[in-house]
Amino acid sequence: MLKLNEERIHLSYNQIATMLSCPYKYYLQYRENRKWDYIPSAVSFGSAIHDSISHFHRALMNGGVEDISKFTEIFSVGFRREVNDRNVLFRDDAEPDELMEKGKALINEYVSSFEHLSPGEVEMEFRLPLVDIPSGLLLPKDLVGRIDMVSHDDVVYEFKTSSSRLPESSADGNLQLILYGWAFRMLYGRMPEKLVLVNLVKTKKPGIQVLESVPDIRREQKLMKLIFRINEAIDRDSFYPNPRGTYGCGCCPYSLSCEYTI
Ligand code: SF4
Repeated sequence: MLKLNEERIHLSYNQIATMLSCPYKYYLQYRENRKWDYIPSAVSFGSAIHDSISHFHRALMNGGVEDISKFTEIFSVGFRREVNDRNVLFRDDAEPDELMEKGKALINEYVSSFEHLSPGEVEMEFRLPLVDIPSGLLLPKDLVGRIDMVSHDDVVYEFKTSSSRLPESSADGNLQLILYGWAFRMLYGRMPEKLVLVNLVKTKKPGIQVLESVPDIRREQKLMKLIFRINEAIDRDSFYPNPRGTYGCGCCPYSLSCEYTI
């Protein structure tokens, strides 16, 4: 595996997604290193869910799961810590309890339904060189990321939490999944069998949606071109505000202090 100097500057999927959503948010977060005004409740919830799921995958990897209630407990402890120790902004006073119950239900359903998985790698970090495709030149910047799970049968999994179900074709156009499929190919020298997006939906009746996509090199190439354009904008300091970006200012952790909030 290619080992790169970790001192080199890098571009992560989060940085790419932030530039696509609102370049000014990128500027505040990654140039100014400005502290968030608050932690959105969806971020705290997602972080506690991810932590519990990755413990579950590690348990599967290490020989199996004896007590599935352990994972709802990991979620509860993690989410309680978020609520008590961090500056989380909730919709109202009822939301922390609602999210606690929904999270426990989702973890319960996940660990009961996905015990058949065979994880080969959990939270797999990668650092790969960014190569200018037309010229073949190595750029002085790496692409970094962390893949939620790769199974023994070469399936790349990404987990997300959201407040609604996603359209069935969502996995095909999910940039994070395409990027992680590309990273798998670079690291292992073969295509992944499948790309899977698992959406843990925190609707009134929580549920789990599994969306699949077939890896496609043309999509990877288009994504790489997009990443190059984004990288050029970063190098040019082109950080315009986009209050109507992916999630809008309402979900932005700088919405209390940002002068462009609409
Ligand atoms: S509050 Fe709106 S305009 Fe300001 S950084 Fe966030 S998304 Fe961009």
